Amino acid sequence: TVVAQPTPIRTTCPYCGVGCGVLAMPRPDGTVAIAGDPGHPANLGRLCSKGSALGETLSLDGRLLYPEIHGNRTSWDEALDLVATTFKKTIAEHGPDSVAIYGSGQLLTEDYYVANKLMKGFIGSANIDTNSRLCMASSVAGHKRAFGSDTVPGNYADLELADLVVLVGSNLAWCHPVIYQRLAAAKAERPQMRVVLVDPRRTMTADIADLHLPVRADGDAALFVGLLNALSRRGVIDRDYVGEHTIGFEAAELLAEDWNIARVAEATGVPAADLEAFYELFATTQKVVTVYSQGVNQSASGTDKVNAIINCHLATGRIGRPGMGPFSVTGQPNAMGGREVGGLANMLAAHMDFDEASIERVSRFWGSSTVAARPGLKAVDLFRAIADGRIKAVWIMATNPVDSLPEADAARAALRACPFVVVSDMSARTDTVAEAHVRLPAAGWGEKDGTVTNSERRISRQRPFLALPGEARPDWWIVSQVARRMGFAHAFSYFTPAQIFAEHVALSAFENEGQRDFDLSGLTGTDYEAMAPVQWPVRKPRKGAERMFGDARYFTPDGKARFVPIQPPPPISPAPGQFVLNTGRVRDHWHTMTRTGKAARLSAHIAEPFVEIHPADAEALSIRRTSLVRLENRHGCAVLRALVSERAQRGHVFAPMHWTDQFASSARIDTLVTAKTDPVSGQPALKMARVTLTPF
Ligand code: SF4
Repeated sequence: TVVAQPTPIRTTCPYCGVGCGVLAMPRPDGTVAIAGDPGHPANLGRLCSKGSALGETLSLDGRLLYPEIHGNRTSWDEALDLVATTFKKTIAEHGPDSVAIYGSGQLLTEDYYVANKLMKGFIGSANIDTNSRLCMASSVAGHKRAFGSDTVPGNYADLELADLVVLVGSNLAWCHPVIYQRLAAAKAERPQMRVVLVDPRRTMTADIADLHLPVRADGDAALFVGLLNALSRRGVIDRDYVGEHTIGFEAAELLAEDWNIARVAEATGVPAADLEAFYELFATTQKVVTVYSQGVNQSASGTDKVNAIINCHLATGRIGRPGMGPFSVTGQPNAMGGREVGGLANMLAAHMDFDEASIERVSRFWGSSTVAARPGLKAVDLFRAIADGRIKAVWIMATNPVDSLPEADAARAALRACPFVVVSDMSARTDTVAEAHVRLPAAGWGEKDGTVTNSERRISRQRPFLALPGEARPDWWIVSQVARRMGFAHAFSYFTPAQIFAEHVALSAFENEGQRDFDLSGLTGTDYEAMAPVQWPVRKPRKGAERMFGDARYFTPDGKARFVPIQPPPPISPAPGQFVLNTGRVRDHWHTMTRTGKAARLSAHIAEPFVEIHPADAEALSIRRTSLVRLENRHGCAVLRALVSERAQRGHVFAPMHWTDQFASSARIDTLVTAKTDPVSGQPALKMARVTLTPF
């Protein structure tokens, strides 16, 4: 007997920014088989533990299935009417800046587009920010300072083509596992390839590294300013490239002059011999890719770190060519898509800023005379404005700021003081949903239909293969319904995500004669259902760009890249008895575990929250292996299991960010993080809190 095989649905993993293609095969018994899509260029059939367990996270347990007002089930009409009338009334009484939207890199591009259009285009305020502010805002700011645009130059294949891969502040093995698998396979094939890891912790990623540089927290800028100096002294600056295609090298070089090996060693804590080895390797290897992630971005000097890295690539002309370039890897599945639609408070739309010409252009495109005229509040400031009453109504979509924002208890208090809090989410049980006056049930992965963009600018389809449960609805539908009820029906008459995507494509191409990097004109009229993964820009005739800046033409007014002179910050020096707290991910969980917490095998890897501490520090504090430890500072406290490990650096501890009040009491690690932000990007320094430790 031949048993009919289910037809696989081609979709994309909803977790990290690698953006792996997934084949989902619903079975007659209601379960779903999951496999990597061999045809997807990001993963070529690979999946990590989280991606391969997606089928085990699809139960309706804990789902928000019906609209609720004050915890009571209601109809969509009542809930939507209440949101629309309260937003309208608040705006009428207090102005457009008295309301806000806080979105997420989990939203699909179509959801993001509609939310951004409502807030900036029709409400007339730019108070829409996103949890992507916590993830890659410093990379965006660094790109714009250097390139004049938020453009990631390279792609994943460049890591495989490089002879030297420098991983900075990135535990690639756990946080972007499929890129790590690709890198490991390439290194196994070409053992002469070198990998350098720059990270205070000796993470699992160090297992592949030829050299590990255990910089102190925030030592990265000094390391790369020292590298620029070393490149200059070794005479390996590409003077032709610098002269023809860049501006500002002399100032950057001058500021770097003082950063000799001894000074860098003192600032970073890295032995001078290891610094010499790294600088020599970088200077003598042409094909270099520098991959950086949250260790760089989540810092009060994150933007400067990004530019310190980019400076070294510009100075050597190692950018825009196979196997070369700086490469920011994003944390979330659609952090990049959010940037594309303008879903950050300091961006307008389609990679346009708040300059007069862009505001006028977007106003004409959207047919609105009320487009926001200036940037809005970035995440941390936005929650401060909620706390002090400037913002009186907020709508939070697909994210859990009560656990993920720095000074998380203050974020919770802000929502408790806010007169009107709306949360749309697929989960009924997050710590943020608990604070909502109105809860709107959103569609989840497998039910949603739209697009996402991964770290290498590749737009892929997320396709549905499950029916919408209960009364859950797609985010784009929910936002459009509220917009219609606010009186903007003419601009939000969407019936399908394909319509929204077509509008997004048209806006990217609107009066864009090559001045802006983000251009999807080649996707005009594309078959949305069948659309294959493609890297932007996709200019007419349809052609995606694997790599940017191969022609050394940048998106600045004169087409030249900019060096940014960097003065590294003084080293972090905790007071006696204090430790630097680094926060981050574990291999098998995602964000606040609303989905990965459902798959038993994912919790088998690391079953409970922990604090990783060096054996000598543990001994000095009489902390025994597996005993409980209390972490404390003026913002909050957490009680965690001690993981005594030489992977930690002395004076530094690490704790994961995933556990919330839903899964473990007293483990909300972001309660301890100070809400200090990078002055350029507004990204909070989530990896540099100071805490004291005591045995519990
Ligand atoms: Fe999903 Fe990232 Fe794992 Fe790929 S590497 S399967 S995108 S979590």
